[in-house]
Amino acid sequence: MEQNRKMAWNQLGFLPGARKEVTVFEEGIQSGFEIRKQGSDEIVASFDLPEATPNADTGNICSRGDFSAFQERGSFYLQAGEQKSEPFTIGENVYDEVLSELIYMLHLQRCGCELTKEEAGDFAHPSCHDTPARIYGTDETMDATGGWHDAGDYGRYIVPAAKTVVDLLMAYEHYQEVMEKNNPKKGPALLDEVRYEIDWMLKMQRADGGVYHKVTCASFPDMDIMPEEEREELIVCPVSNASTACFAASLSLASVIYREKDAEYADRLLKAAESAYTYLSEHMDAPGFHNPEGIVTGEYGDENWIDDYFWAVTQLYQVTGKEMYHDAVKKIIGDERALSRGLGWEWCGSYGALAYLEAKETDAALREKMLQF
Ligand SMILES: [Zn+2]
Repeated sequence: MEQNRKMAWNQLGFLPGARKEVTVFEEGIQSGFEIRKQGSDEIVASFDLPEATPNADTGNICSRGDFSAFQERGSFYLQAGEQKSEPFTIGENVYDEVLSELIYMLHLQRCGCELTKEEAGDFAHPSCHDTPARIYGTDETMDATGGWHDAGDYGRYIVPAAKTVVDLLMAYEHYQEVMEKNNPKKGPALLDEVRYEIDWMLKMQRADGGVYHKVTCASFPDMDIMPEEEREELIVCPVSNASTACFAASLSLASVIYREKDAEYADRLLKAAESAYTYLSEHMDAPGFHNPEGIVTGEYGDENWIDDYFWAVTQLYQVTGKEMYHDAVKKIIGDERALSRGLGWEWCGSYGALAYLEAKETDAALREKMLQF
């Protein structure tokens, strides 16, 4: 694979009419590159590579070649001097599997249960992280089992969990037919998979409505440690306003999506979301989250949690229509920290604007503000 470190391209393949680019890194840069047919090695097109320039994001010097004009269907590879890409496909069906594979990937991230060889292949493992977790700074333990492992470690974090749940549920809400058509071939359907994560999120809420920020060990495991081999003490980190607000926003939306299938569950989700709001309204002066002493796993620190709060109250207003949430929206919109544009785990104000625009009754001036947001 050594040769491929000097080239980057979309390994999923390309739609025939789509923009197609290859990035060639410093040592591999040539004046041009070729497209060759996989199998016969025949050169079917040649393109120039523009002059290499420094790329601030990666710190590399690189040249980006554009081969959008090449629209032939089939299996090809790219060659620049000695450097060759792996083969890729150009065709109408290149993204057909992406959605179902993505949902299946989340299934493979499941924590607190066994994944059998049959369903998970190389990712099979016995049950993991299924011991009680200690609440930071106390001798108390709690059940924090379940949910999905985070991207690169086995921690489970509320803030990115809420964003993932909302992205999937919004996609389901707006493209239900497409989402259901792409349920994975192996593993549960989308809503059942998302529910596994939500069930864990519910466990992370304290009786007063506040939501613990994350559950991890004190530090990351080594790279070659399987989930069931990480046996250090599990620690539940303190409640944060960011996690409580994201929890309120995501679970209120989830209450709408799950209502048709399971009204009792939907009621439970909404109650949890409203209880999180109650906690927030009583802790508006809390600072942003930082890892407490002795904890060095992913911080998902968020100094400005006002945009998370804005998202929580707009989503709760959209779902319940309650005037108290509308009042909270009107009040917080005056704080410019609420309007941090973004659909990410840290900057999430755009989720709030979208939620407000979909509410049944909106204030004209506020609506205008959200539309420009
Ligand atoms: Zn686990």
